[in-house]
Amino acid sequence: MASMLSSASAAGAAPNARPAAPAAPAQRRFRFCPHCATPLEDVQKFGALRPVCPACGFVYFRDPKVAVVGLLSTPAGDGAEGEEARVLLVRRGVQPGKGLWALPGGFLDADELPAAGLQRELLEETGLRVRVDSLLDIYTLETPSGATGFVMAFATSLDQPAGRSAHPAPVAADDVTEARWFARSELPTDLAFNSTRALLHAWHNQAGEPALPAPHTAAQPAAPEPRRTP
Ligand SMILES: [Zn+2]
Repeated sequence: MASMLSSASAAGAAPNARPAAPAAPAQRRFRFCPHCATPLEDVQKFGALRPVCPACGFVYFRDPKVAVVGLLSTPAGDGAEGEEARVLLVRRGVQPGKGLWALPGGFLDADELPAAGLQRELLEETGLRVRVDSLLDIYTLETPSGATGFVMAFATSLDQPAGRSAHPAPVAADDVTEARWFARSELPTDLAFNSTRALLHAWHNQAGEPALPAPHTAAQPAAPEPRRTP
């Protein structure tokens, strides 16, 4: 449901913003109180200039967005016909990174814990049920919309009855147009985010595999500086 950008841009959108022409980060701001519709005024509050409602006292805090992604991988088989280890990637159907491969995931909803949100996103985007095993890393959220935040990356594993295929066919839906398993030798290079590159690089270089060179990050858009004044 919550894509990497559609939620982010909503967070800072002006009530009358035109969706077809996203404003630069500095222009994306709330102009009216969401409680009483009084025009907001910039006031020095809690150490920064913040939009404050002069009528009801509402203070708009630009809180960070929190996204979750899941590295769903399977170990190599150990039999004579043992399968290669594989990782599940999705091709994004929305910006940012539209058309590029990424780990499945998305933004947390309000009141949603990270593991539950990740399980929901995996199910929505791939039709697969997973267990959330461990936190791998936390990355700066990359969004050109002006929203700032973090991506929590988790190791996940399939949660399905024993005896089923080690690589059940994913069903792409929601924010993705394609979902498939990749062996280490066939990982795509058109990847959506720095976090995707870093996590796949680490997965590829796990024990027993020839090391890949470190991913290039210099050409990627830098994460936006946190803005203290909207
Ligand atoms: Zn108000």
